[in-house]
Amino acid sequence: MPELPEVETVRQGLLGLVGKRILSIELNRTNLRFPFPEDMDSIAGRKIIDIDRRAKYLLIRLEDDLTLLAHLGMTGRFGRTLEGKHDHVVIDFVDGTRLVYTDPRRFGIMDLIRGGSEHKLLNHLGPEPLGDAWSGLQLHSSLSGRNVSIKTALLDQKIVVGIGNIYASEILFRAGISPKRLAKNISFNMAEEIYNETQKVLLTAIEAGGSTLRDGQFKGVDGNLGYFPHEFSVYDREGQKCTSPECANLVRRIVQSGRSTFYCGICQR
Ligand SMILES: [Zn+2]
Repeated sequence: MPELPEVETVRQGLLGLVGKRILSIELNRTNLRFPFPEDMDSIAGRKIIDIDRRAKYLLIRLEDDLTLLAHLGMTGRFGRTLEGKHDHVVIDFVDGTRLVYTDPRRFGIMDLIRGGSEHKLLNHLGPEPLGDAWSGLQLHSSLSGRNVSIKTALLDQKIVVGIGNIYASEILFRAGISPKRLAKNISFNMAEEIYNETQKVLLTAIEAGGSTLRDGQFKGVDGNLGYFPHEFSVYDREGQKCTSPECANLVRRIVQSGRSTFYCGICQR
């Protein structure tokens, strides 16, 4: 499932569309996770002004204060050419450019926002991990009294957005904090450590174009793969030697809230 670095990679890949005018939109079905809005056609004739991201939502800003909101779900991706039967949305531009939304499992979302950024899916989202509103102090206070593991807390979109299974494991390994530690027992210093490692991991992952896993699902807009898996310290390394120098322990996999967590029981406390 795409996490923040993958969605940011897609956003950056779409920036070349800014300034282009939409000629037409073709919907090959009536819905993805939710039905498409009935007036989806109203994007035709409008120029793309900018492309923003909030959490894992792409906000494609159009003329006349219209925004196309898109979420990639589990397997959604934007590309430049038709791929086959999972191409659900085809947008053609006046200059001949084409944008195709492909999504085999159809957990993606597309909707329209008129005027600003108010949308029910965006209303209850927590802070952006790379934004100014988030800090170690802010994280520490949002964890206080929480009786869930820190791993589970980091996946909670009200605490911080865009961090999923891969990056939560990587961040906690690099911060030296056990994924099983209860959120309420994270000290201020630990929260600072988590904050700092989150910045580094996410920025490095964005730089690498995100993470394309062995399933090959994630691709950038131009079909590029994300190279961050080459830098995984712990994710998907069950049974392999811990990557910390001088640690001979093996990486373990446990399941927390139904999701795999990878960690080193010696390096992470
Ligand atoms: Zn270790």
